[in-house]
Amino acid sequence: MTNKIAVLAGDGIGLEIVAEALKTLQCLQQDFGFSVELEPAAIGGAGYDQFGKPLPDETLAVCRQADAILFGAIGGPQYDRLERDLRPEKGLLNLRSALALFSNLRPAILYPQLASASSLKPELVAGLDIMIVRELTGGIYFGQPRGIRVLENGERQGFNTLVYAEHEIERIARSAFDISMLRNRRLCSVDKANVLEVSELWREVVTRVAGDYPDVELSHLYVDNASMQLVRAPKQFDVIVTTNLFGDILSDTAAMLTGSIGMLPSASLDSSGKGLYEPVHGSAPDIAGRNLANPLATILSLAMMLRYSLQQAQLAELVETAVGRVLDQGIRTADIAGGGASVGTAEMGDAVVAALRKLGG
Ligand code: NAD
Repeated sequence: MTNKIAVLAGDGIGLEIVAEALKTLQCLQQDFGFSVELEPAAIGGAGYDQFGKPLPDETLAVCRQADAILFGAIGGPQYDRLERDLRPEKGLLNLRSALALFSNLRPAILYPQLASASSLKPELVAGLDIMIVRELTGGIYFGQPRGIRVLENGERQGFNTLVYAEHEIERIARSAFDISMLRNRRLCSVDKANVLEVSELWREVVTRVAGDYPDVELSHLYVDNASMQLVRAPKQFDVIVTTNLFGDILSDTAAMLTGSIGMLPSASLDSSGKGLYEPVHGSAPDIAGRNLANPLATILSLAMMLRYSLQQAQLAELVETAVGRVLDQGIRTADIAGGGASVGTAEMGDAVVAALRKLGG
């Protein structure tokens, strides 16, 4: 079976890091018999430049037909003055909505080789392996009404709406319980049920869904406590499930526990397992075009794609092992080199391919 992959490199370092992930993919094709058809398409600033829209219709059509989407990054200072609907970020938000990619998987894994890169003590973070499942298409980022209005006294007031319907809570809870079943079967649901009615409903629905997963141990934490626990004793967590806004913040905290944003992959899935795979970081305009970006987050995103959308768990493991071997060899891009010797984006991509070839015998 040929797997159709939409390739949306986007802006800034997106182009460089996706090119390296494609090298890995090509190696899987040549050496491991993996059959793939690539469909490149424009998104973000590139979409605006070519088609006048951050999510061109052509791109959405390509993504709808694909089995999975490999995404680089979007954004750049040259687009900051565009009206909100034309900005690159809108392309990604619209794509997630259009494809109903409601379940955002953000692993925070600390490779033992990089334990010193964390700002926390190595004993607190060594071996860290957390999965944060963030609701991605609802909550305060999408709730209506929203805007900035002028009050009677002439003062301006900004407002947003935090809403979650039961079905939205139920499907993200199920997604998180399913992932917990593949891991250590411990799920922590994070909310603010002591203050917010939305959170009260969230907690009630998650608890109800837990009835269908008797093997998973469910706990609840308020978001303020969860953020403290993440930096106090992060290894207590296995899977965390939470809302769009809380997940946005907590997953960045978890990301920093691992020391480098250039190492962190992510996935956004729909209810059938189709997904968009992208590094957690942005388009890094400060280093774009200079062969400095770390491509490993994107290569690890490809591994997640193989596991979660393309049912190729063995190939996923091979790619992850290859990344581990490269780190074992001491090969580092500047962001993870701690001031030591470093290689460029392309050299890191080549090193992963070389390690992969060796694993293939
Ligand atoms: P950023 O993640 O692009 O960069 C933050 C810092 O991390 C920078 O110093 C950058 O050089 C570094 N960095 C990021 N990725 C790296 C990598 N792979 N290797 C080495 N270093 C890396 O965040 P930002 O600077 O706040 O945003 C830049 C642009 O990216 C903005 O336009 C923003 O809107 C956009 N953005 C896009 C996404 C996305 O595409 N999903 C996510 C976040 C930000």
